[in-house]
Formats: sequence, structure tokens, C-alpha cells
Amino acid sequence: MKKHNFYAGPSILSEYTIRNTVDGILDFAGTGLSVLEISHRSKEFQAVIDGASELVKELLDVPEGFSVLWLGGGASMQFCMLPFNLLKTKASYIDTGTWAHNAIKEARFFGDVDVVASSEDANYTYIPKNFVVPADSDYFHYTSNNTIYGTEIRRDPDVPVKMVADMSSDIFSRHIDFSKYDAVYAGAQKNLAPAGVTIVIVRDSALGNVDRPIPTMLDYRTHIKKGSMFNTPPVLPIFAAYQTLKYYKELGGIDTLERMDLEKAALLYDAIDSSRIFRGTVTDPEDRSIMNVCFVMKDEYKELEKEFVDFAAERGIVGIKGHRSVGGFRASLYNALPIESVRVLVDAMDEFQAKH
Ligand SMILES: *Cc1c(COP(=O)(O)O)cnc(C)c1O
Repeated sequence: MKKHNFYAGPSILSEYTIRNTVDGILDFAGTGLSVLEISHRSKEFQAVIDGASELVKELLDVPEGFSVLWLGGGASMQFCMLPFNLLKTKASYIDTGTWAHNAIKEARFFGDVDVVASSEDANYTYIPKNFVVPADSDYFHYTSNNTIYGTEIRRDPDVPVKMVADMSSDIFSRHIDFSKYDAVYAGAQKNLAPAGVTIVIVRDSALGNVDRPIPTMLDYRTHIKKGSMFNTPPVLPIFAAYQTLKYYKELGGIDTLERMDLEKAALLYDAIDSSRIFRGTVTDPEDRSIMNVCFVMKDEYKELEKEFVDFAAERGIVGIKGHRSVGGFRASLYNALPIESVRVLVDAMDEFQAKH
């Protein structure tokens, strides 16, 4: 049986991505070689990385003056690489979850970190509002989608300085106004490709302004100069990412993806909100993530949580167990998840409720 894959990351990829990746593993671009065993300096792979970078720019409307990089080390590497390159004296961060927290911790190695607001007081179930970013900050860093807690900042904030965003789990689900940003980064394994590559989209003029020496591999300029080929890049994840990007374009780009994502999320949140036994952990609709939907059983039904996971599994639903720091359930509705899978989940919730 084909599973309904709600894993938070690594997570579902489109059939298009998986089939084309398998094809490339068997015979890459008619070379008679596998993409697994070819030089990253071959003209065939060069076409892949160039094509992928072009599609990132096209899909996200990335303006002139920004570079698209394909790096190893995961989004977590960016928590230190970013301030290494951009933090001169002080940067502002908003603490909206574990990943934001980790980013703050690393930035402190490089200068003053001003935490403008935090929702830790309520286990990160909301997005703080009315925070103030000082005009003398080098940049403002935020996590656009809090994968673990199911909250999301879906609109580019208005602050008096340039922004940096960790968009690991919601990139390609909305447009980004790059005029407000110095950098956007995203680990690939949530909405793009298998684990192993991270996209960084960085404003060229934001670089070269810090006094500290930067080790070669951690200097964005190294990778810009060498087109992400200073050392061997993660060839296979980049190849898979290219397939996903082509698929996104075929579907109609960001407008289509966003419409589909909103529709899936509305279907599931409606089911949760009208349920007698389930409730959402994020209550303000404005703060709710359309990528990761977190919900639990109401107190009087709490002991049924384990049973529901098994009940869902019998219907081919996998990956809905909530993160250990939240409990309950988390359904990740990334771009590649078909709405049919959400319908199956909603039907399972209805059926389970009727049983109890
Ligand atoms: C998954 C995730 C990370 C961590 O990514 P790694 O590639 O494992 O380092 C960071 N930020 C967000 C928002 C995530 O969802």
C-alpha cells in the first residue's frame, strides 16, 4: 500500500522527483554513467547545478545582486556561518522555537545578540507581536516556520534593518520580498530534496564587511567565487533538488504551490477545530503553520493518543507522531503531499471520533 507520508523531515518528495532521480542514478543524461559516479566537474553536472540555481532565482524572483549557493552542513551549519560572515557588532533575533534558539546560541560566538522577543514562556505556541528591532542592528534573524511547534511567520516582517531568515521548512510555499533581506537559507530535506544540501541565497553586497578572518570553507565568498564547487558539493541531493524545482515550475510556480498548501492546511485545521476530541496546539489562526499542523487530544481523551497513531497507521498514515517536546500529533503538509493524503487523515480522525 502507498503510504500517506506526514513525516516532518526528511519528508515526502514528489513522485516526479523520485522517478527522475532513480533514472539519473541508473543512467545520468545519457552518459552511460550513474549520477552517483560522475565527476562534479563534468559538463553534465555543471548543467544540473546551473539549472537548479536558475530555477531557484526564477521561482522565487531573486533579484540581481544575490547569489544562490548549494552547501553542505545542513541548516544548522548556517546558524554559525551566517553570523561569521554578517555579524559586525550586534544582531537581533526572535526566539520562536528550538531552531531559532539554536541560531541565537551560535550567533553569540560572534557578537552581541539582542533577542527582541520570545514565546518560550508558552512552549512556543504563538508568534510574538509588537517586538522592536533596533535600527543599529546588523540584521534581524527569524525562523519563518517553526517545524516542531507548528507556528509560521508567513509575511515578510517590517523592520528597520535587513533580514535573514531560516526558511528550511517553508521555502517555496510563498513569495519572498528579497529587497528586505540580506540572506535566506534552507536545509533541503523539508520541501525540496533528500538531506545533505542547504540552499543559501545571499546578497553579495552584505559580504566582506566584517573585520574578523573567516576560514575558507565558512566564507560565503569562497563558494560564490567557485559557483558552489570549491570542494565537492552534495551531488545527489542537488540533482534531486533540480528535479523538484522543474516539477514546481511545471505545476505553475509559487502561486500554485501556495494555493495548494493553503487548501490542504485549511482542510486539516477545519477538521481539528470542529472536532470533539482533538484540539490544535496553536490557537491564533494567524500564527498557524500551513506546513506543520500540530494537534493533541483534548484532556478527557488524552489516553487515546497512542491508539490513534495505530488506528491511522492501519490506514497507511505514517509520521504523525508529534515531536517529543510538544507531544500529540504533527502532520507535515509539505508541497509534495497530495491533498488526498490530508483527506485520508481527516477521514481517519472522523472515524476515530465516531468510535469514541
Ligand atoms: C530541520 C530544521 C533545521 C535543521 O536542519 P539541519 O539540516 O538538520 O541542520 C533548522 N531550521 C529549521 C526551521 C528546520 O525545520
